[in-house]
Order: sequence, then C-alpha cells, then structure tokens
Amino acid sequence: MARSIAPPIGRNESLAEQFMVEYGVVGKFSLALHRKMSILGFGQLRWILCHLSRSYPTKGGNPMSLHPQDFSVVPDDTTRVARAAFPKGNPYMTLRDKLGVIYEEHTFAPFFGSSRGRPAESPGCLALVNVLQFAEDLTDRQAADAVRGRIDWKYLLGLELTDPGFDYTLLYEFRNRLLENEAEQKLLDELLKLLQGHKLLKSRGRQRTDSTHVLAAIRSLHRLELVGETMRHALNSLAVVVPDWLRAQVPVEWFDRYGPPFSDWRLPRSDVKREALAETIGQDGFDLWEMIGRSPQAELLHRIPAVQTLRQVWLQQYYVDEGKPRLRPPESTPPSRKRLISPYDTDARFSVRRSVKWQGYRVHVTETCDEDQPLLITNVETTTSASLDLEWTDTIHQHLKDKELLPKDHLVDTGYVDARALAEGRSVYGLDLIGPTKPNPSWQTRRGDQYGIANFVVDWEKKQATCPQGQVSSGWYPSQTPYGEPLIVAKWAMPVCRACPARAQCVCGSAMPRAITLLPKDQHIALQQARQRQTTAKFKKTYAQRAGVEGTISQGTQVCGLRRSRYRGMAKTRLQHVFTAVAINLKRVAAWFEETPRAQTRISRFAALAVAA
Ligand code: SF4
Repeated sequence: MARSIAPPIGRNESLAEQFMVEYGVVGKFSLALHRKMSILGFGQLRWILCHLSRSYPTKGGNPMSLHPQDFSVVPDDTTRVARAAFPKGNPYMTLRDKLGVIYEEHTFAPFFGSSRGRPAESPGCLALVNVLQFAEDLTDRQAADAVRGRIDWKYLLGLELTDPGFDYTLLYEFRNRLLENEAEQKLLDELLKLLQGHKLLKSRGRQRTDSTHVLAAIRSLHRLELVGETMRHALNSLAVVVPDWLRAQVPVEWFDRYGPPFSDWRLPRSDVKREALAETIGQDGFDLWEMIGRSPQAELLHRIPAVQTLRQVWLQQYYVDEGKPRLRPPESTPPSRKRLISPYDTDARFSVRRSVKWQGYRVHVTETCDEDQPLLITNVETTTSASLDLEWTDTIHQHLKDKELLPKDHLVDTGYVDARALAEGRSVYGLDLIGPTKPNPSWQTRRGDQYGIANFVVDWEKKQATCPQGQVSSGWYPSQTPYGEPLIVAKWAMPVCRACPARAQCVCGSAMPRAITLLPKDQHIALQQARQRQTTAKFKKTYAQRAGVEGTISQGTQVCGLRRSRYRGMAKTRLQHVFTAVAINLKRVAAWFEETPRAQTRISRFAALAVAA
C-alpha cells in the first residue's frame, strides 16, 4: 500500500487513528486499544509514526506558528508586585535584572511549532521553565503551576501578572522537540554564551572534571525476570499495534504467563524449575519471533523497538541445544558494556566502580575553578556506565573547544589521564592536563631503587637510548600494542648487559639483555614529565583544587537529583543532565551577583583537632 504523508501527530486518539489508517493494521479505533495505548503504547506508536511515515515536523519542517510575544521588558504590574513581595530581592529577580532575557525566542523557534488546538507558547519561556523545574526538582505539573502562581517566576520570565500560564504537557513536548532535533546542548551553550558576554566566564582559565554514577529509572531484574519482562514488553507493544492479529496468534496460556508483571510472580525456588521456566520463556520468544515473521506486516513489526529488544535479549541470553533454547552460562553472556539489563531501558548497563555497583549511566561534569569568577559548569557528558573515564577525555576537550571554552589548565583524576591524553592535551588543544598518572607497573619502578624507564635517556633523532650505566642501545625496533597503537622497542647488546656490574638492578634473569618499550616521542615525553611533576609540592597544591568538583556533584545530587535518572534512555538522561547543569549555573550566577559567600568544605570537630595539632 502506498503510504501517504500523515498529518502531524497530535493527541493519542489521532495518533492511533493515523497509525491504523496509514498502515491498515486494524480496521477501527477501539476503546480497548485506546486504554492500552494510554498505559504504554504512546511512545511506541509515536516512534513508529515518526520513523516509518517520516512525517513528523522536525528538522526543516514548518518552523513556527508562535504568537509573537515580547518578554524583553518585565511588565510594570509584575515589577510592582514582585518588588513588594521581595523588598530585599530574590535570586530569580536578580538574574532577570542582571542578565535580562536568558533564552531568546529565536533560539528554539525552529524546534517548536504550535500544537493543534492548544495555544502556542514561547519556546524561550518553555526552555527557562524547564530549567527552573530542575533547579527546584519539580514535576511538570508543579512547574506549570509555579508559572501561574509565583511572582518571582513571572518576573524572571517577563510575564504579565494575569498570564494564565500553559498546560503542563507543553513542557514534555518541548523536551521531546529538543531530543528529536538533538538540540539539548543548546540549552547550556546559549547560557554560556550569555555569561561570556557578561564577563562571568572566560576561556583559558582553569577547569576541573569528575564523573559520578547515575541510576537508571528501572527495577533491577535477575535473568529470569529479564527474559520474562522482555517477552511481556514485546507482547504489550504488539498488543497496541496489532491487537487482533496478536489475539489470533498467541496460545491461551500466554495470557496467564505474560499478563501480570514478573515481579508479581512467585517464581519457582528450585534450580530445576527455574531452568525449566527459563526454557519455556525462551521457546515462547522464538515462537513469537516466527509468528511475526509469518505476519503480513512482518517488516513493520520487526521494526518495533520492543521486538528488536526481544531479539537482542534472546541472542544475549539463550543458545539452542538440540532444538531447545537453553540459558547461556554466565561466562558466555556478553560483557556488561553490551549486555541489556532491562527491556524498558536498553541504554542502561550494569557497572562496578570500586565499592559502587549500579545499573544506569555515568555523567562527567566539567566546571571552571578560577578564584575571581563564579564556578560554572561548562560541559556535561552522559555516557554508558560501563565506559571508562579515559574514553571521554578527548570528547570533553573537543566539546570545550567547540564552545571556545578550552581551559589553560584542566584538573582531572587518574582515570582521565594517560600518555596520549597528556600529549594531545598539549598538541591539539593547547592545555595542560593536570592529574596523577597511573604508576609504571614494571618491577624496576615498583622497587624504587632499580633502573626504571625514567632512568634511561632517549635520543629520538639518533633513535638510540642510553642506560644508567652509559651504554647505548644496539637496536631500535618499531612495534605496536595488541590494539594497533605504535610503540618502539630499544634493546641493548647481550655481551654488554652480561658484563654489566649493575645487571641485578636492571634485568631480571640471567640470559636476556635489557629492552625498554617506548611510547611515541610526544607521549613518552609528556608522560615522563607528568610523572616527575606529580612528585612536587607545587603539583599537590594545584591538584588539591580538583576536589572542589565533588561539591558540584553533591549540589547536583542533593538539589537536582543528578544521580537518579528521571527518564528512561540515554538521550533523555542526557537532557536531564543538561538541564541540571544550566540550573546549577543559574543558581551560582545569582549567588555571585548577590555576593553570597561560597560554602566552605566542612571539617568535623574531631578532624579539626588533627588540623590544629
Ligand atoms: S644491564 Fe645493560 S642496559 Fe642495564 S644498565 Fe647494564 S648495560 Fe645498561
């Protein structure tokens, strides 16, 4: 059937009707379908319509039909009442007085059109309300009520006293538009530009970065619950899209097995029974996949996210032995970086970092730490929980470069530092990456009084190295790591090392001569200099400043719920973190304008005794 261009998606009803008309999946919109969709199907139908009809008015679409509104001047009535209510001032009023309009209308206009049947709202206003919502950890409803009822919000937004506000669902729509247009970083970037314009932020100062864990908005599932819930999730999604087809296909016992949540089940306790149930669920999953394959709408159904998740989980959790599905032994399941832990959030991963075990994400926060300016978050990166900090050093620098906010000194912990990051920090970004390096693992370095690599002098032009005994290497061989990264191996001649009086300090064993493995020149030099520098008192004093970023993470956690995702999925969690960063920045700028002193690091009475001693 030829697909027509569907009109824009509106309310749930029209969404379902459009889907059915578009794809001819079911004949008529039914109350039952509407009920199911209102519980769980809206997101999936939305996904299907967006991605299959490709008719959603996003990039390049009709940009705006907003009512022109002027928020550049706070209305007189609003000013009068706000001043009377807050004679000593208020942080939001201070922000408005000092910064003016924080988000201009045209910034988000291309992403936000009017909704059918509802009054259009200013996208700049919606952006700021979303930020305020995170600053005070409010729900959408509470934020929309605050726009109507709080004079300090009205003053900051530049609204009339009589402004009726807007429906709270517009906040959700606004966030979705940002995500669809991958414009979430614009929220932070625009604020940073504004603050740069007010000389509150400068490049080439000092910044610091740290990361913390973020819990996904999912329940922890063991394997039996995981496969059961994955099957249930797929069936629920199909029940929204093709209810008649599904009812005709599935065995009756599936309604009992996959109707209630698996958390409501009394799962069998014995290993034998649990294994049998896992295999039954596994077989059901394979059967469902075959049913979908035989369906006239197979191509469409295969593209439903929950069906794709079913396929992925089954690949990860099952193998087929003599025609029967068996649960994989734990050692043959994929590594945590790739393994799905819930059908409801396929981006979340399990991770362990020191004593912390969690399911979800990781967020990297970078902030300025110059004494003469407010401490402002310049970058946030939300990543999978299983990624290493080091994988994000370059990305953070690149994003700071894009914002023209590269620091001169960048303070980080050991996790962000290696020879490549140190060298590229200098050569590519012109910054000094300051952080303790990982110790050299060689036995010579660990014992301290032996000939470690720092005791050798390298002549890169002549391609030679000279050992502490003054002997020059006899060989210089290009090599590479198992990952294909270049290395150089310098070797000394056998007779020279055998005759060496200091052999015991240099070589382990009797037969072999000494060989050292060198990184490429710039990396080797950067690493050796960093290792030497971190032994100095000056480094320790400078590096102590890095610990301040813990306070920012603490503020984000306590005030804005940084460590607990409000939403499911990486994209929405990232958006949450961007809102959190903007909210913290606004709070800090207001405190700076009001000359509120920064909180000092708390020291307990007992610890203070040690300091005094
Ligand atoms: S063992 Fe060989 S490389 Fe080591 S100090 Fe002696 S001569 Fe130099």
